[in-house]
Amino acid sequence: MQIYSNRGLFVGPVPIDPKASCREEKAFISHGHADHVAINKTTEYICTPETAAIIKNRYSLDAKFNATGFGKKIPLNGSTVSLHNSGHILGSAQVLVQGSKTVAVTSDFKMQDSLIQKGASPLQCDILVIESTFGMPCYQFPKRELVYEQIGSFVKEKAKQGFVVLAGYSLGKAQELTKVVNEYAGISPLVHDSVFENNQVYEKFGVKLGPYIKLDHNLDESSVLIMPPSLVNHNLRQVLEYSLHKKIFSGMATGWSFRNGFNETFPLSDHADFSQLMDYVKQADPRLVITMHGSEREFAS
Ligand SMILES: [Zn+2]
Ligand SMILES: [Zn+2]
Repeated sequence: MQIYSNRGLFVGPVPIDPKASCREEKAFISHGHADHVAINKTTEYICTPETAAIIKNRYSLDAKFNATGFGKKIPLNGSTVSLHNSGHILGSAQVLVQGSKTVAVTSDFKMQDSLIQKGASPLQCDILVIESTFGMPCYQFPKRELVYEQIGSFVKEKAKQGFVVLAGYSLGKAQELTKVVNEYAGISPLVHDSVFENNQVYEKFGVKLGPYIKLDHNLDESSVLIMPPSLVNHNLRQVLEYSLHKKIFSGMATGWSFRNGFNETFPLSDHADFSQLMDYVKQADPRLVITMHGSEREFAS
């Protein structure tokens, strides 16, 4: 069975996360992050109902979707394909292809449970295609509970002295932050439009985040604001300071340990750290491992 990358990842005849120019009749999409989604109007895309909802909500595209739940076996071009929780964001899936060999593709994944998501379980396979974003031993994340407590105390303390801006990707991280701020700081946050939209999709699928308020000229309604990282900059701080007459504190949730311009960074990632990657490989027990993304060479070695 050939595994190669050509306008998407191909496991034999099965395309996964293809580019828009890939005109296969059917293809799988692992999850709704922009670097995995490129749609054309002729291909039928097979993904979880959650991923289909995220994509429709984010890109409002009239594409063909075939939504399928975890574990259901789908025949495609002589192989059998099934999707399995990858623990990364709502609806995110690992792809298991069973043909002449059994191939597991983790796509983006984490094994840690979070407040809003169960972690991934390793899939036994002959060949493992593993995401290796944090594939070096220096990347070790603390227990999630500890990070939640850190964020909770930072928010509580700084909200008393001024106004807090928390930055986290609008899909995945921001929903977790919404819940963390509610549960660990006891504050219902304001959220940016893009975060609000995704929060609603999570809730539609039964994930409870606690109360939150859509940002709309209403800065006085909370002392915490959750924003996508790309919008948290000097200008935003100035605007907030000017309109609120308060000191502005900012924190960023990210697996990368350092980000310029924030008062605090919190090591909260939706990807596996080095130990989780190693655990996955041991438990999946493959004969061949192919690494993708980030520290590919380092993790392979
Ligand atoms: Zn992702
Ligand atoms: Zn990705």
